[in-house]
Amino acid sequence: MASAKPNKPDTEKDASKMTDGAGEPAAEAGGKLNFIEKLVAEDNKTGRFDRRVHTRFPPEPNGFLHIGHAKSICLNFGLAAAHGGLCNLRFDDTNPTKEEEAYVESIKRDVRWLGFDWDDRLYFASDYFDQLYEWAEQLITAGKAYVCDLTPEQTREHRGTLTEPGRNSPFRDRAVAENLDLFRRMKAGEFPDGARTLRAKIDMASPNLNMRDPVMYRIMHASHHRTGDKWCIYPMYDFTHGQSDSLERITHSICTLEFENHRPLYDWYIEELGIYHPQQIEFARLSLTYAVMSKRKLLRLVEEKHVSGWDDPRMLTISGLRRRGYTPEAIRLFCDRIGVAKFNSTVDMGVLELSIRDDLNARAERRMAVLDPLKVVIENYPEGQSEQLEAVNNPGDEGAGVRSVPFSRELYIEREDFMEDPPKKFFRLAPGREVRLRYAYMVTCTDVVKNAAGEVVELRCTYDPETRGGSAPDGRKVKATLHWVSAPDAVAAEVRLYDHLFAVPNPDDVPDGGDFLANLNPHSLERVTGQLEPSLAAATPGEFFQFERLGYFTPDSVDSKPGRPVFNRTTTLRDTWAKVQKQGDA
Ligand code: ATP
Ligand code: MG
Repeated sequence: MASAKPNKPDTEKDASKMTDGAGEPAAEAGGKLNFIEKLVAEDNKTGRFDRRVHTRFPPEPNGFLHIGHAKSICLNFGLAAAHGGLCNLRFDDTNPTKEEEAYVESIKRDVRWLGFDWDDRLYFASDYFDQLYEWAEQLITAGKAYVCDLTPEQTREHRGTLTEPGRNSPFRDRAVAENLDLFRRMKAGEFPDGARTLRAKIDMASPNLNMRDPVMYRIMHASHHRTGDKWCIYPMYDFTHGQSDSLERITHSICTLEFENHRPLYDWYIEELGIYHPQQIEFARLSLTYAVMSKRKLLRLVEEKHVSGWDDPRMLTISGLRRRGYTPEAIRLFCDRIGVAKFNSTVDMGVLELSIRDDLNARAERRMAVLDPLKVVIENYPEGQSEQLEAVNNPGDEGAGVRSVPFSRELYIEREDFMEDPPKKFFRLAPGREVRLRYAYMVTCTDVVKNAAGEVVELRCTYDPETRGGSAPDGRKVKATLHWVSAPDAVAAEVRLYDHLFAVPNPDDVPDGGDFLANLNPHSLERVTGQLEPSLAAATPGEFFQFERLGYFTPDSVDSKPGRPVFNRTTTLRDTWAKVQKQGDA
């Protein structure tokens, strides 16, 4: 139901903007309030809810949380925090067949990891089943609900369409006593699944289909993850959500746009029951280019093993992003930047990537690693000799200090940093050319060693001992600075390089009624064996590094072993060194 709306194709405009549709600037961009903040401020001014702000985040425990949920979490917890209010965590667990305790635990962990706290306000809609049942009987007694014997198919037929009114169920005018008796027998388990429903008696001619005698309860002989076999009838989402909000004295019940035309029903139940009335507010759900966000689709990716699990680093689940190397700060920054709006649109994946770069640029220590090694022998460097050179851990943060990296006669550089026959714009290593090795010396390529197939397997170079640290006393310049590692000291490690999980900006856009899986990117994961500077052998999950010129990396939390990390690339760099190279010198 939630994903009926197709994603808009991404456009260049989408790529650059930091709002998602209504032109509401992110709070960051000048402190202007978004439309929800304005509504809350207005309610506080009029004293509508006694100046209380009490929100909730209401996940259904039928999957792991994703980046879209993060938007909702930041909004709900953030709004409460901004007004000294409260935010509840409430599991919306009305569908026993799809829900599991494991999902509950993963959701709690992810909300906490994002930096939010519900204190003692952890609730489950299933805790309200007794109360909801009582309220259902109350509506029956008031003549506002009836037991209907139509099959699901007949119910659909009677419902009408957007252009045609529905038809009354032949069971609509059952006497109250009969309705009560049948509903109690439904609860007692006398009828099979689907045999009967309890429906609200509203208006089969309403232009809003949700108001055409919606189902309140259905029969489902299924065990519930919390209530076990106590119930064989379960309330529908619409009959549960508003009343749960009411019981928890929520002030602003924020949900996504597809619930906008459920709001009259939300209000109807609460008014008919005569209970405390929260305000439902709808906002645009997050969609991102190159991603799917529906849990149904994420579940398929997991179950059909297109990914290694819910926490596969290519998944935009919170656990996938965490394993990939995203930080809570970056995700919160992203949610801030995209803002909150009333119209659906698609945010460019680049906005998410920019958020993690901005965060890691400040905190990640720099290291050197070579992912596609090409051997270099420094012919005039004495055999058996080595030295320690000083390297800066973070040029933007003096407090991060320095470290030593070993230098020796045999090194690795990146294969793509050498060309035997370079075109004009290629300023890196080539026969006869001098470049700088970062934190080390200037070296000149003197010879190229090839294998029988004619491929370059080794470079012969000389170094200038006068250039220790990277600059020449005579002031001569070079046009490129390369990263490198000392071959005898390097540690080999598996490094996983990721690309978008989907090959196209809108994976739901499939020609000829195909499946979104047809748009999977076959090159979304590449595993290489990198040669890393020795300090990286001790890296542990939860640490973040910038491998110079290659991107941000973190040890994989599942597959790393002590002393033997496996690295995930979180994201590539904006090409900061490209600029440096153009200027001709670092
Ligand atoms: P799905 O369509 O993936 O199943 P859902 O809306 O059913 O998502 P819930 O667990 O019910 O998932 O969502 C919990 C809360 O998170 C709801 O308030 C919902 O509106 C919000 N939410 C879900 N997806 C997004 C999204 N893409 N952007 C913003 N908020 C979202
Ligand atoms: Mg839902």
